Amino acid sequence: MTAEPSQELPAPIDLTHYFSEVAKNKTASPFKAFYKFFGIPGIGNFAGGLPNNNYFPFDTLEGVAALPERFKPTPPTPVKPPKQCADPDAGPRTEGSRVVVPKVSPDPNPLTKIDLKTALQYGDALGLPPLFAWIRKFTLEHLHPNVPYKNGPEVVLTTGNTDGFSKTLEALMNLWREGVDPVEERPGMLVEQYMYTPPAIRAKSYKANIVPVSMDRQGIMASGEGGLEDVLENWDSSHGRRPHLLYTVTIGQNPTGGVVSVQRRKEIYEVCVKYDVIIIEDEPYWYLQYPSANALSIKSRGHPVSEDAQPGCETYGSSGYPFLDSLVPSFLSVDYQGRVVRLDTFSKTIAPGCRLGWITAQPALIEKIYLSTQQTTQQPSGFVQSMVAQLLIGTEGALPPRESFFSSSNKTQNGWKVDGWVRWLEGLRGNYERRMNAMCNILEANKHVVKTGRRRKQTSHHNEQNQSTINTTDDDSEWRHVVKLQIYDFDYPMGGMFTWLHFIYETHPLADKFPHSKLSAAHWVLLTREPYRVLPAPGVLFSANEAIQAASGYQFMRLCFAAVDEAEIEPLTQRLVNGIHAFWAIKKSEEIDELLEESPWMEARLAELTL
Ligand code: PLP
Repeated sequence: MTAEPSQELPAPIDLTHYFSEVAKNKTASPFKAFYKFFGIPGIGNFAGGLPNNNYFPFDTLEGVAALPERFKPTPPTPVKPPKQCADPDAGPRTEGSRVVVPKVSPDPNPLTKIDLKTALQYGDALGLPPLFAWIRKFTLEHLHPNVPYKNGPEVVLTTGNTDGFSKTLEALMNLWREGVDPVEERPGMLVEQYMYTPPAIRAKSYKANIVPVSMDRQGIMASGEGGLEDVLENWDSSHGRRPHLLYTVTIGQNPTGGVVSVQRRKEIYEVCVKYDVIIIEDEPYWYLQYPSANALSIKSRGHPVSEDAQPGCETYGSSGYPFLDSLVPSFLSVDYQGRVVRLDTFSKTIAPGCRLGWITAQPALIEKIYLSTQQTTQQPSGFVQSMVAQLLIGTEGALPPRESFFSSSNKTQNGWKVDGWVRWLEGLRGNYERRMNAMCNILEANKHVVKTGRRRKQTSHHNEQNQSTINTTDDDSEWRHVVKLQIYDFDYPMGGMFTWLHFIYETHPLADKFPHSKLSAAHWVLLTREPYRVLPAPGVLFSANEAIQAASGYQFMRLCFAAVDEAEIEPLTQRLVNGIHAFWAIKKSEEIDELLEESPWMEARLAELTL
């Protein structure tokens, strides 16, 4: 379906049959409705239960923020070169600008006024008006410029995607009571086979069925065995209702690093239309899409990543920014029925402690979530909203003079604007992409171990899966052979912050002596010990259920290349591969037994985690 002029687009479909009882029963707060009267010029406000703003202890909020050009982007995005980016990771401290939120702004326009008097006061659940307006405009005009349903989606602020997911679930899922409610009513949520598990845990508090869908390099599969269509078509209703929600991370998937192409999105979307499924798309890493990963993975795996991995988003309307246009667009870009709920957060673009994000979805659903916001968080913290608003939007005019360490940063508070924000995202992508490549190049170079030995001269050639003979002698009775064994494989992540390593425990010298889940537990312990002392996240933590943990989850470890210092990426990755090689050098069972004695946490996890 291609985008057409707004008046010809279909209206979003009615989703009220999926609204939870809680959502249906939500009514607007009469108190909040009263806020509109507070703005009447000159009114003596005896109505609101508002504390006096003169008694707020903060006279200003201020900080020094980076300039948007601090980090260096990577090609192919055509961008302005970074300004004196001496240290690509930290950037010189002096390259900042002061961000000051005054106590009272003289600006009479509530849509541009940023001050503490407003931000720290009670307010409408939409949030601080200038910030809400900026995020809404950025979302609708630049991030998703062409959502193909009539009048497009709406936006509501959240305190991050954890909050966004929780509120979405509250609106769309009923609590099921075991032994009380009929089994046919038990709700279900489709998830990725390897997943970021907190949303599944949240849905389990509603007693929902968590239903895994098989994945490939990109993400969930629309068709094929265990794919979305297969799961929905063959749904066994003795377990509950056919799932009506799909929770998915489509860009820089956590933990696999996949990116779902436009073609795949269309296929998944059509299956969701057929089975009336709502897609909850959680995208903290959307701007971290790595063009270099496709080419590198072809090298790594010896086969193309996917036929349809090209974004092809030119057909989805221009955002006005080459960088944004180069990214695979959201499910919203193919959402002609209004069944996509998109979660965005500032956690990975500013900081997790911001607790600031937003939801984009069809207006009827956004209204329910807005009412939920009235009754729960009210709005994100005013401290955060005002600082982020000042950073992104700014106010015109000179700053009050400051002395000492602020003086070198007395530049401007005109705000980054959309240009600056996009440039910031490009710089972040550049830095994370370089880290990703630094880690993965070392992993790529070390995925084999070499075994040497002598063998009777019967078999002249040997080449099984994961091993190959690469050298021989011409001795009469024996071959001296050198065998290359592959001990792990992985794909260069197409996006996000994680590398997903798959270990081939079949090639371990003790593969026949221990269950491979035990080898994995011992392996993890060894890696955490001196001299390796690295901490990968065990794959069992990302398995959507126990069966997946037991069948394959233990074969994986997730490595985050985002958090450690730039200078540490290569030495730490080298330590990790040294540890992996040391594990493959273990030939005595007692050594594995000894390591397993130290793995109660892993063992307990394997036994107890009942996702
Ligand atoms: N969703 C995914 C896929 C994540 O990886 C994370 C954090 O790691 C979150 C959500 C949490 O987001 P927030 O900090 O906005 O609540």
